[in-house]
Amino acid sequence: MESRTFHTHSEEETIALGRGLAHELADSVVLLIGNLGAGKTTLAKGIVQGRTGAAPEEVSSPTFTLVHQYGGDRPVYHVDLYRLDEVREVESLGLADLFAGGDLVLLEWAERFPALLPRERTEIRMRVLADDSREIIVSRLR
Ligand code: ADP
Ligand code: MG
Repeated sequence: MESRTFHTHSEEETIALGRGLAHELADSVVLLIGNLGAGKTTLAKGIVQGRTGAAPEEVSSPTFTLVHQYGGDRPVYHVDLYRLDEVREVESLGLADLFAGGDLVLLEWAERFPALLPRERTEIRMRVLADDSREIIVSRLR
């Protein structure tokens, strides 16, 4: 497994890291893993900006609508499964179709539903080290 570790020291740095990662994320399915406040949505803002040009303020947490789509030609989907408890609820979102579509899909809290995930994916683990410091480990599974 290839994996790389980054450290950021501000929200802006995490967004910039996301912009950089946007161009090299080979797999279409990317899990953002970490506690509340770790910076998953913040990193997603950068990845979405890098792929679609959308401003970070346009990217919000998909907690209530569950799936957000950004960009037209080469869309990026941002999904948050925090509020779902059952596999059938998650299946009803049409994740399998999203995964099969080949577009970039960023997922928060998807590790709670391992049976629904493709084996080939990227996992990004985020950890709070201090107020503004985050450890970010990017791993490719296949
Ligand atoms: P999550 O989606 O993991 O719950 P968010 O991205 O919504 O987390 O929130 C992260 C919070 O932490 C934001 O309030 C952000 O300003 C703050 N923060 C402080 N330092 C960082 C950093 N280095 N990277 C990302 N967020 C940071
Ligand atoms: Mg979030």
